[in-house]
Amino acid sequence: MHKLARLDHRYVWHPFTQMRDWLKREPIVITSGNGAVLRDVHGKEYLDANSSIWTNLHGHNHPRVNSAIQKQLGKISHSSALGFANEPASLLAAKLIKTANGPSLNPHSALRTPHLAKVFFSDDGSTAMEVALKLAYEYARRSGRSKNPKFLSLEGAYHGDTVGAVSVGHIDLFHKAYSGLLFKTDKVMAPYCYRCPFNRAKPQRADARTYAKCNHECIDKIEQKFAVRRKKGNPYAAFVVEPLMQGAAGMIPQPKGWLRRVNEIVRGYGAQLIADEVMTGFGRTGTTFAGHQEGVQPDFLAVAKGLTGGYLPMAATLTTQTVFDAFLGDYSEFKTFFHGHSFTSNQLGAAAALASMELLQNQSSIRAREELQQALNQELAILWSLPNVGDIRQVGLIAGIELVKNWQTREPFDLRQCVGIRVCDAMAKRGVLTRPIGNVIVLMPPYCTTPKQTRQMVRVLAEAVQETLATK
Ligand SMILES: *Cc1c(COP(=O)(O)O)cnc(C)c1O
Repeated sequence: MHKLARLDHRYVWHPFTQMRDWLKREPIVITSGNGAVLRDVHGKEYLDANSSIWTNLHGHNHPRVNSAIQKQLGKISHSSALGFANEPASLLAAKLIKTANGPSLNPHSALRTPHLAKVFFSDDGSTAMEVALKLAYEYARRSGRSKNPKFLSLEGAYHGDTVGAVSVGHIDLFHKAYSGLLFKTDKVMAPYCYRCPFNRAKPQRADARTYAKCNHECIDKIEQKFAVRRKKGNPYAAFVVEPLMQGAAGMIPQPKGWLRRVNEIVRGYGAQLIADEVMTGFGRTGTTFAGHQEGVQPDFLAVAKGLTGGYLPMAATLTTQTVFDAFLGDYSEFKTFFHGHSFTSNQLGAAAALASMELLQNQSSIRAREELQQALNQELAILWSLPNVGDIRQVGLIAGIELVKNWQTREPFDLRQCVGIRVCDAMAKRGVLTRPIGNVIVLMPPYCTTPKQTRQMVRVLAEAVQETLATK
């Protein structure tokens, strides 16, 4: 075993990992990367098929992002936002606000209110969500809406791993053990169309998604939740959602019109909308922000993963002037938002983010994303011929492939069989790296991925599924 692998085995505890399994074999130790390619200590190359857990946008070692960080490094790496402003964070805040309010590739601008006006920086997706939750909670109290503000979020929701973020999350496998630590929130049916209890139509081959006759019963469920809360005299403070596609739930896309309609319900009941675009932000769904595709603008927009192009841990929570104003007052009123992190507004992160956002917005990069989205769509179609592929769900540059025992009955594999993990192991042997979510295989290529590399990712996935499941 390589020396670094041995050190890892000896000292490192990995996230979301059964360490007993981890310690059974030599880990892949990454030493360098370029574009969509990662290289390990033995010189073996891999395609980064999940953009290093959904973070990387333009590829590894990108000369423009590198040089922006290096330039900033020559000035200063970090000074505190507690007491001081700094150059890249000021510029980045302005750019984020402009981008979040600005025209997107597919605008329905009429609905695009409220206007986002302020940026609160933090470190990662979880902290960006904590900030949104605390602000929404306190705003609801100060505005007189509720003495005991309540949140509603979707089944399968994932908003991070800190205690507040876990409280609005609803993935039992991750969250149940800690239920004693959490504050109570409500959950409501998510639009998981593939397993919709209101649509029992038999799947058709070549497109397992037969949701055409949908009456949007899941939207009625949300309306009912809001109605019940209001009747009880404690209306929801906010609805929390991952717009267009729930990530860790298993890449669950929302049907067209769902978000727009849900936003109308939220607004109709006077609640606030918290959009968690930690995964969907920065072009991943085809538009700069996912909400733009449905003409929806939240009161809180949480971004992280792709903010710095996936180079450094930095996050932001965008919000409105109205929320900001609720925290203004004489010092002695103690209306201050008493919250912050040591690395809030970090200069290296902000410099990387500025470079990444510039890349994101240039025309050739927009065209490249459109082409990659199409290439991915075309390649994915070959997977329908595999009997263990139940559903293929693509939104923009995100794809989730749900593996099942039997596509005709949609019967799932027992999680204990580790089908997703085994398929991803077989893919790694063939030089393609990704991680499953249960029985869902995720493909989320960096934006620089070539058509040839896209084809390789999908072909390798097909081979891995066949090898893992053929004779079982
Ligand atoms: C990854 C993720 C988070 C948490 O972000 P971290 O940076 O891992 O804390 C929150 N929400 C969504 C939708 C995510 O995908």
